[in-house]
Amino acid sequence: MNTINSDLKEVIESVKAYIELDRASGIDEYFVAQKKSDSRSPGLNLGYGCTLESLKQEVMGCKRCSLHKTRHNIVLGAGNPKAELMFIGEAPGEDEDLQGLPFVGRAGQLLTKIIEAMGFKRSDVYIANILKCRPPNNRPPLPNEIEECEDILKKQIDIIKPKIICTLGKFASQTLLRTETTISALRGHFKEYNGIKLMPTFHPAYLLRNPNDKKLVWSDMKKIMKELKIVAK
Ligand code: SF4
Repeated sequence: MNTINSDLKEVIESVKAYIELDRASGIDEYFVAQKKSDSRSPGLNLGYGCTLESLKQEVMGCKRCSLHKTRHNIVLGAGNPKAELMFIGEAPGEDEDLQGLPFVGRAGQLLTKIIEAMGFKRSDVYIANILKCRPPNNRPPLPNEIEECEDILKKQIDIIKPKIICTLGKFASQTLLRTETTISALRGHFKEYNGIKLMPTFHPAYLLRNPNDKKLVWSDMKKIMKELKIVAK
């Protein structure tokens, strides 16, 4: 015990001596170095066997990025949890934010028509977005928002295991394919995302402004139908 006390005394004395030396040289403030940490939020706490329902519980109330401050609802996705075909768009818009469902505005109605023309019902496929909360005034998503939210989408894809992913528009296509190639160059050609065939095509909101390009989207959908061995009715 005495040895410990004398060791401690020695340490205190040497610290005092350092402080006094610093004071003599004009230093009277000290800062504690913070341990550097990964600024990203911890990953999702979901392991093997998780379902869309358990994912929903985990994500409910998510505050991983600042979009939680302005959203009304988290728009996780909707549709068949065992869908062969999964559509992925950019982010919820105003209608989607208010209703908590993806693609329910004008663009969503056009997507429904496309899905039905392929011979599906909306409930046969799964529809989601890269971001689950609406960016204010529909501004483009920011890199940190994508980084924080992408885990949720990855988990959705893991659970659903679609045969084909169809990305809607430039943003979703470029994000999943990690490319800056334009959507005009990407669309119409199957790519691969983690072993799953991925068809990039135009976003339905773009088609509302450019109806002449609907035929290009239909030709992309026909490639998907051929891959899934679906014959249009
Ligand atoms: S956008 Fe995604 S990461 Fe950001 S708060 Fe919403 S659910 Fe969480």
